[in-house]
This record gives sequence, C-alpha cells and structure tokens, in this order.
Amino acid sequence: MAIDSKYSILFESVNIGPVTARNRFYQVPHCCGLGHMRPRAHAAMRAMKAEGGWAVVSTEEAEIHPSSDLSPFPEQRIWDDHDIPALRLMTDAVHEQGALAAIELVHNGSHSANHLSRTPVLSPSETSIDLIYPKQARAMDKTDIRTFRQWHRDAALRAKRAGFDIVYVYAGHRLTLAHHFLLKDSNDRTDEYGGSLENRARLTRELLEDAKDAVGDKCAVALRFAVDEMMGPSGMQASDEGREVVEMLAEIPDLWDVNVSDWSNDSATTRFQPEDGYQTSYIDFVKQMTSKPVVAVGRLSSPDMMVSMVKNGIVDFVGAARPSIADPFLPVKIRDERVDEIRECIGCNICVSCDNMGIPIRCTQNPTMGEEWRRNWHPEQIDARGTEQDALVVGGGPAGLECAMQLARRGYEVTLAEARSELGGRVTAESSLPGLGAWKRVADHRTYDLGQRGNVQVFLDSKLDASHIGELGIRNVFIATGSIWRRDGVGRTCRTPVDVADGASVFTPDDIMAGKLPDAGHVLIYDDDQAYLAGVIAEHLAMLGKKVSFVTPASIVSPWTRETLEQTRIQTSLLEKGVDIIPHGQLRTVGPDHSRVACTFTGKIRTLDCHSVVLVTERHRVSDLFDALRQSANNDAGPELAALELIGDAAAPGLIADAVYSGHKAARDFERDKSEVELAFYRREIIALS
Ligand code: ADP
Ligand code: SF4
Repeated sequence: MAIDSKYSILFESVNIGPVTARNRFYQVPHCCGLGHMRPRAHAAMRAMKAEGGWAVVSTEEAEIHPSSDLSPFPEQRIWDDHDIPALRLMTDAVHEQGALAAIELVHNGSHSANHLSRTPVLSPSETSIDLIYPKQARAMDKTDIRTFRQWHRDAALRAKRAGFDIVYVYAGHRLTLAHHFLLKDSNDRTDEYGGSLENRARLTRELLEDAKDAVGDKCAVALRFAVDEMMGPSGMQASDEGREVVEMLAEIPDLWDVNVSDWSNDSATTRFQPEDGYQTSYIDFVKQMTSKPVVAVGRLSSPDMMVSMVKNGIVDFVGAARPSIADPFLPVKIRDERVDEIRECIGCNICVSCDNMGIPIRCTQNPTMGEEWRRNWHPEQIDARGTEQDALVVGGGPAGLECAMQLARRGYEVTLAEARSELGGRVTAESSLPGLGAWKRVADHRTYDLGQRGNVQVFLDSKLDASHIGELGIRNVFIATGSIWRRDGVGRTCRTPVDVADGASVFTPDDIMAGKLPDAGHVLIYDDDQAYLAGVIAEHLAMLGKKVSFVTPASIVSPWTRETLEQTRIQTSLLEKGVDIIPHGQLRTVGPDHSRVACTFTGKIRTLDCHSVVLVTERHRVSDLFDALRQSANNDAGPELAALELIGDAAAPGLIADAVYSGHKAARDFERDKSEVELAFYRREIIALS
C-alpha cells in the first residue's frame, strides 16, 4: 500500500514483536453479538475490515475458560480445542486479505455469572458479582491463581494454533480478572497479589510473561490497559497509578493498547463526548514510557487528526472500533484520497446496544454491518441494475436517502422528491437538539454522494400525491414518507387517548424540533416512548430556561439508553439542570393549568401544576400516499407501476438505523427474484447435529 500523499505516514508498516503490520490502521477488539454462536458471520465481518485496509483485525473478548462464561451473550470463546475450527474461519479469512488477526483473551472474573457452566465465580476478593443475579464471587487462593495462569497460557497456545498473530492480555473496562486485581477497590488481598500497586500488578505481569513464554516466538503479546477510569481519585488515574503501571510493565508487552474505563467512557457517545480524539489527553504519556508500539482510540475518523497523532508521537497505530464499523473501508478511502467518501461514525452506540442485547451487530451509518455473510452484503459493492431503467423515491429522510443512493449506485436513473426545503427528514430535525449534532452525518454522507452522481435528480419543496406520480411516469416507486408523533398520548403503556381539556396546550416532538416552543410557565414532558427523544427534549427545554417536569411510567429516564451506555449520564444531566423527575407515572388528563398523573402501581392520582405538555409517546406512519397508490393499483385506476415499496418509518417506525437499513434492503432487493427474496430470507448458522 505504498502511497505518496500527506497521509503516507499512515501507510508505513510497523513491527509488533515477531509480526509486522502492513500499515497503522488497527481495529481494536470490539464486541459484535456474533461470537461463538455465529462463526461464519463473525469471520466474514472481520474479513471485510481486512479487505477495507485495516492492518490488524481483532476479535471481541474471547472467554478462556467455562468459569468466565458470559452466557447468554455470544462473545468469543476459546475454552478448549473444539473452539479452534470456528476461530480458524476468522484467521484464515483475515489473512487472505493481508491483515494480522488478534484475539483478546479474557477471564471476566466477577463480571461473569457463569449461567451456562454453573461454575463458581472467581475474583481477587469476596464480592457480589457485578450483574443483577444473586451470586457472589469467591476470593481466589494461590491454587486458583496458579490454575488460572495455566488456563490463560493454554488459551494462548490454542490461539496460536488457531492462527492468531497477536494475543491479548486484557486489563480494562473493569470487566476482567486482571483489571480487578489491579484496582484498589476490587482487590482487598493481603498476600503478594494485593496491597501495593506492584503486588496488584503481579498477575498482569505474570499473564504477559506466561503468554510470551508460550507463544512469543510466533505471536505478539499485547496488553489492553485502561490508564484512567475517569472517576477522579476514587479510581485509577493516568496521573497516578495508571502511569505507574505503564512504567512498571513498559517493555513486557509487544504492544500497548491503551484506553479509558469503564466501557461507557471508552465508547462515549457524541451526545456526551462530541470531540473525536477525546481520549488523547489521557493516553498521551504512554509512548514516552515504552519503546513498544502504542495504539489508542477515541472515535478517530479524521485522517488529519490521525496523521498529527502519529507525527506528534502519541500513537504508532490509529485504533478504531466504531469508525471501523461505520466504514470498514476507511483505510482504503484514505489511501485512495477519497476522504470525502468516508462514512463517519455518528457516535450513537446502536452498535454497542446490540452487544448489550446479545444480538448481531448493526450500525446506523453502515447498514451492511453484520450482514456480510448472512445476506452477502458488501459495504462498497452492489449488483448492477436489471432491466428496469428508473426509480422514484418519495421522501428524503434516512430511508429515502439510503434507498436513492443505493439505487443510483446500481445504475438506475433516480428521482428523489422531498416535501421540505432540506433533505434529511428526522435526522435533520433530531440533530438540531442538544448533543445530537453529529447525527446529521447520516444525511450529509448520503446527500454528498447523491450530489456526485449524474444519474440522480433531487427535487426539494416537492410534496407528491398520487396524481404527480402518474404525471412523472416512473414505473418503480419507493415510498419513504416517514412518520409523525402522535398528539393523543397513546403510547407504550396506555392504549387509549389521554383526556385533553379545551384550552390545554399540547406539543409533540415534531413541534419542538420545528422550533414551536411552549410559552413561559411550567412544562410537563410525558415520556411513554421510553427511548431517547423525551430526555433530549427535556434537556433542550431546561437549557432554554423552562421549568420542566419529566413524567414517565418507567422507573428511570429513557430506559432504552441503558443499552447505548448513556442512561446514567442523561438522568444526571437532567437532575443537574433542575428537571423534576417523576417515575412510575401515567398521564391521565391534561388541563390548561394542571395535569393528572396516576401511579403505575397503585393508581393513586397526583395533580401537577403545568401550563403545557409535550407528549412523547408513539408515532403515526405517514402512508397515505402509499395506500392511495396501492388502492388505485388494485382497482387498475392510477398510474401503472412495476414496483411499489413502502420503506423506513412509513413502514415501521423505529430507530434511524432501522430506517437506513430498510432503504438499503429495498434497493438491494429491487429486481431480485421475488421467491429468492422471500424464501431465502437470509442464511442461518445452524448447529450441526453430528
Ligand atoms: P424515514 O426515517 O423513514 O426516512 P423521515 O420521517 O425521516 O422518515 O423522512 C420522511 C421524509 O419524507 C420527510 O422529510 C418528509 O418531509 C418527506 N415526505 C413525507 N411525505 C412526502 C410526500 N408526499 N412527498 C415528498 N416528501 C414527503
Ligand atoms: Fe458509530 Fe453509531 Fe455505527 Fe456505532 S452504530 S459505529 S456509534 S454510527
């Protein structure tokens, strides 16, 4: 990959112990909900990164033993030799594309419940496990520690046999035994593994030395270490023990993979960490302490920032999890000077939510993520068009934009009509709210791409009805007309409309996002959507100086956002802004100056003074145009259409990621054999009964 440009430094090869990385792009370990349950999907997803130019492609955490059993979550597994063939699928596929394969060995200690294996949980100290399950971990004795070291060593040997080039020791995120030993507040031992930092670091040192001894001839041994927990003096700090650990172990690993802890800090969303490169100030000391290569992350997708981090001696490798998910071809695009084509991560953590739910990974920006094997989707390639010539997409939100872009890539003459004066639909609206500005990238990437193509015509301020479609004479129509928020309070927990009195002032999220705001006085936000938007609106109105009460039938604010690692931050931020949070409340009536709320347990009614109410509950699909076209097609009355598809929120309101996916799938499936699309819905990995 020799190139001559201002980015050429990123394409220099770098030695890591006994192996050599072809460039400086390093996909650090990240979870994906594929793991040991879906080995073919896993191999294909990792191989796509290798094809996209990453020099190192890592697994997610790989449990080394049944006493680190994360069931029901499908992480990677290397319990015994039976796991080797599945892992081999990945290493072979990654090697075929010229990249190195890394495996993140892990023992999760008190973070694993061992639901499947039912073995005792291990920890440096006697402690409850850190999952909601009534079980305690037992403090490891010296025999346990010796046995654990042997498991780790054996796993490293299996990893070598499975073809891995880099083997990790993982001491980060408060999720691993090595990290639990290192941290003061989870290690109360009084033997040589507890007390002083040197003692607490002993196990990590031993794991590194064991691994080097076992596999160091062929494999590099990496240490993933969280230098700072972002908890100030109550946790490990880069200014203190974090630095001392690096100093103490400086030359032992072949590579330092450094980050911050916990996971919500490491994978911070743009809502709470808007800046790319947000970890740099924590990790920038590491390279001064070691001669070994250093990799770090921080949602890095700007090539200029990458170059400056390498030139300024902060890192040797540009680490990425999310930027590599949003755009597996990021290195190739930089190499080929197609920087404008990079699909930048928006920092929404939908990818993270999948791991938390134990389902295959998906990404808002990259609808092919997780579908490489299952649907044979490639992020940069799509079949050329069939016999049809043109297509009309109605609605320029995320579904319509993605559909139009992929249809254009297939070679159709594409017409995109949007009622508003700007493209983006809900993405443009939502990104105007506090902290969500980066979400605009979903629209920007697609708008830019459409603008580069000669076979696309975009019409703004063009609200179409069935007669317009007849006049246009385009036979293939994709309806992406979106959804609007309900104004009647019907939501997740209440299927009948809320009683709204005459003169009451009621708003929906669409009003707020359009800039129509409640007058002075007390605003009640009612969240029976329980996702993210009500919390953002509460923040927005509080920042505008409104007195805000937040009522929800849930027990916490925005419960969905636990999956995106944001819930604690959201609730803290609302409390700090003076928002009055009223959980377990169901809105019953709305009046001009007060509302009534019932306790979800007892039904007891409470009256709240408020002058306006924002109802964040459910959405109505906007499908009238689709319904009219379908109706007239059934009656042989309207325009003669070869294809009519309803996509995005107009088909099923959901996340922005769902809308993008829906638009992508519709474009891929267009002109495909219908029976193929319906019968072979997608490939499944079925356990062989042999
Ligand atoms: P999705 O998430 O499915 O893409 P959005 O609500 O974000 O849905 O976007 C739908 C877009 O469709 C909006 O920008 C809206 O203005 C536009 N739209 C709705 N009805 C029409 C119509 N009849 N003609 C053109 N555009 C429409
Ligand atoms: Fe980035 Fe969101 Fe995609 Fe995750 S899901 S990689 S955070 S755009």
